[in-house]
Amino acid sequence: MQTYARQDMAFVRGEGVWLVDEKGDKYLDAMAGIAVSGLGHAHAKLAAALCEQAKTLIHTSNIFRIPKQEQLAEELCTLSGLERAFFCNSGAEANEAAIKIARLYGHNKGIANPAIVVMEKSFHGRTMATLSATGNRKVQAGFEPLVTGFVRVPFGDAEAVAKLAAHHNNIVAVLVEPFQGEGGINVPAADYLAKLRAICDANEWLFMLDEIQTGIGRTGKWFAFQHTDVMPDVMTLAKGLGSGIPVGACLARGVAANTFVPGKHGSTYGGNPFACTAALTTLKVMAEDGLLANAAELGAFIRSNLAERLNGVAGVREIRGQGLMIGVELDRPCGDLVKQAMAQRLLINVTSDSVVRLVPPLIINRQEAAVLTERLAEVIKAFLA
Ligand SMILES: *Cc1c(COP(=O)(O)O)cnc(C)c1O
Repeated sequence: MQTYARQDMAFVRGEGVWLVDEKGDKYLDAMAGIAVSGLGHAHAKLAAALCEQAKTLIHTSNIFRIPKQEQLAEELCTLSGLERAFFCNSGAEANEAAIKIARLYGHNKGIANPAIVVMEKSFHGRTMATLSATGNRKVQAGFEPLVTGFVRVPFGDAEAVAKLAAHHNNIVAVLVEPFQGEGGINVPAADYLAKLRAICDANEWLFMLDEIQTGIGRTGKWFAFQHTDVMPDVMTLAKGLGSGIPVGACLARGVAANTFVPGKHGSTYGGNPFACTAALTTLKVMAEDGLLANAAELGAFIRSNLAERLNGVAGVREIRGQGLMIGVELDRPCGDLVKQAMAQRLLINVTSDSVVRLVPPLIINRQEAAVLTERLAEVIKAFLA
């Protein structure tokens, strides 16, 4: 169906940060399939592990124990400090699980109409509940009636969340992205998450982080909340987790980890041996190859290099981000930049109308990062001129 205004081009193979189109032209991929392909394209270790798993066992369903799923849950819990995991196939599904946990947590406390605090400019997915949680009218328009039970406040405003506590007695959770992705790479104040954590603690709300875009090394830590000293009760993952093989996860600890009991939630495919092999191999390669440090270093390099190249260029508002999640905000809508960058063999993405989003593979090296900034700076300068 016509759900996308697609570019009229197709890539037929890839290698590292490069994609090759049908004509054989090579593009530097600075969007990684929308912050998914952290290991880049055609990674040899991932390909070998997936081939091996496909020859062994792809799927058995959650009717049976799945050792690779248990191992993946164990590893994600060790990395994050959370305690249990539910596996699904996408980000929206991971958030559906989080929303169901919050509602069930509320009902278990005797709250018949539980509400979840969500943010303006947030993005949580395209299913009915997650688009209702999303703070973007374009995502919602035409799909009313929306799912109720969400209360919205501005992103970055902890005070606004604190005020809600005084006026609502049915709130059960806060759902927030540590850094907003689709909303324009929005970076809140350093103490924002800590303030939200404190409000949640004071009111016995669940603190739920959507780390679908920020998680799995994207910002230079395994999870973005690890830039702070607070812990979420619930965290959702997808995008980078499977390096392109669909896999999502909802992790939880404490009471949130034990809210679901058998029969309350499920997924036919979720966490099957093939998907878990993709995730386990992703985590392994990331650790072995030092990709967290690489994301932190190369992210800082790209931001400072771009700042130099675009220094004094009228129309560039801000260069921001953390690790390899970078936004360049211009003073005008810049959707046309996508095509203009493509003409220079660079794949970028524009979000929130006027923000160039860079989310390249985490394996990018300094030389490739320099090519990225050089091409992007030229394209932006030409566009603004
Ligand atoms: C992409 C994204 C989602 C939705 O993930 P899908 O796999 O497309 O369902 C949810 N939340 C955030 C923060 C995202 O970036």
